[in-house]
Formats: sequence, structure tokens, C-alpha cells
Amino acid sequence: MIQWILLTIIVGLALAYCLHAYESVEGMSDYPPTSSSSSSSSSSSTSTAPFADPADTDPDDLPWLASLSKLDRVARHGNSCTVMADNPGPEGTRLQTVSRTCESGMPHTADGDRIRIPDLIPEALRESIIRHELVHIWQRRSPELWSTFYRRHWSFEFPGDPPAGIPDQYIQARRSNPDTWRHPWVRWMARWWPIAIYDQPDSPRLRESHTVWWDEHRQQILDTPPTEWTSFFGYPSQDEHPHEISAVYLTDGDMNSEAARRLQRWWEIAKSHR
Ligand SMILES: [Zn+2]
Repeated sequence: MIQWILLTIIVGLALAYCLHAYESVEGMSDYPPTSSSSSSSSSSSTSTAPFADPADTDPDDLPWLASLSKLDRVARHGNSCTVMADNPGPEGTRLQTVSRTCESGMPHTADGDRIRIPDLIPEALRESIIRHELVHIWQRRSPELWSTFYRRHWSFEFPGDPPAGIPDQYIQARRSNPDTWRHPWVRWMARWWPIAIYDQPDSPRLRESHTVWWDEHRQQILDTPPTEWTSFFGYPSQDEHPHEISAVYLTDGDMNSEAARRLQRWWEIAKSHR
């Protein structure tokens, strides 16, 4: 009799444990994305593990992913770029809808003529976003055409290395951008270097960055653009790199600065080569 009572208690305990374990597993599906959980925010500041799931990674993205700095990887912790839809886009592009966390929700382009738009982007914004991203596609297809324009008409150079003398903290804090990464260092008028840097290098977030200018003559960082810069470029909404400045001008049909007018005149002729 005692044996039966003991057996009943043991079976009952085992069932209760299994039920509890099952409920715990079920609860996992309601967890918030890892980027907003407290455990991941503490690990995100220290983890340098690759953020990309190899099973999700297009081979065309490997050179870009390999170029990322330690802070770039931390800033993308928890991002996923799973492709949810892949359709023909304008001008021979591939229009991909990707996970909402891809590049922290920011549209961008990738090798293989891909325009990638996170699935949270509202439908109403897609048209102007695609126009902007198409400029980046043309830049990818004809890099020499664009760099020649930037050199001749905008006085940019594309050194392979960061400027001499710049404190290491700015090199470490530079935020990489999939639409500009092949020429991350740009020098304007043989003097100023615009650089996108993370607002908080201790806890970098992809959406939290700003542009600074390294003045190589004075060997100092400027938090606002030099007056020579603003009198030529005006105040484009993205000023970190000529690829972004030109995408903004062409998308907006901007003619309000000397730089914008030169671009529009050149593009009228050059667009037949796009
Ligand atoms: Zn852009």
C-alpha cells in the first residue's frame, strides 16, 4: 500500500515538472527581440561574436561582414537579415523584404543588385526609399564613374587609410554603412574628413550616430561642418559620405547648393551609363 502511495507521489511530481517545463518553453515565444532584453544589453556591450547567422548569410555579403569593426558588430548584436520576400525590382534590381531588425531597421543596398527593406517600413515610404537606394545601386554598378565625378567636381579623394594624427578613438568609433563601406575614408579639399561616429562608443547603436569632420591642418575634430563645407554642400540630411550626399540630392531633386547643381548637371549626361 505504501509502495502505491509513493509511486503515485513520484508520478505526480514528474507530471507537474514536465508541465512546468512545457509552459516555460511555450513562454519563450513571447520573449522580446534580444536587442531589448536586459540580458542581451549587458552582453551586447562585450560580445564580439559575429552577429550574422551563417545560415542566413548571402555569400555576396561576406566581404561587407568581414569589414566590420568590433563596435560595428556590437551595434548589430541581435540583428537578423532573414529574407522574407525576394522580387524583381526596378532597373534590374532585386527587391528584398528582410527581417525588421536587419541593419536595425534601416533600408540599404547589397552586392548582387539587392535593395533590402526591413519589413516594418510602411508601404507609403517605400517609393521614396527605393529611389534613394537606386542611387546606391548605380554607385555600386559604376564605381569609377562616380569617384571620377566626386574627384573632379566635388574635390573629394579616397585615401585607403584614416588620416594621420587622428586620435584612435575616432577610428574605433567610426560607424560603417553598407552603402559606403568600400571607401570608408574620404578627404575633402585636401583638408577635411567627414566621419560618421557612434554617439556612445561604450554602447554603440546603429541608429545613434553623427558626423564629425577631422581638420587635418589644425589636427582637430569639428562637431559641426566647416563653413567652406556648408557653403558648397548646404545642409543635406545625410552628410557622412559623397555616396549619401548624392543619393539625398538626386532623390529630392535638390538644386539649392553648388554641389547639388553640379551633380544634377552631371547626372543628366551620366545617367545613360547607369
Ligand atoms: Zn543612403
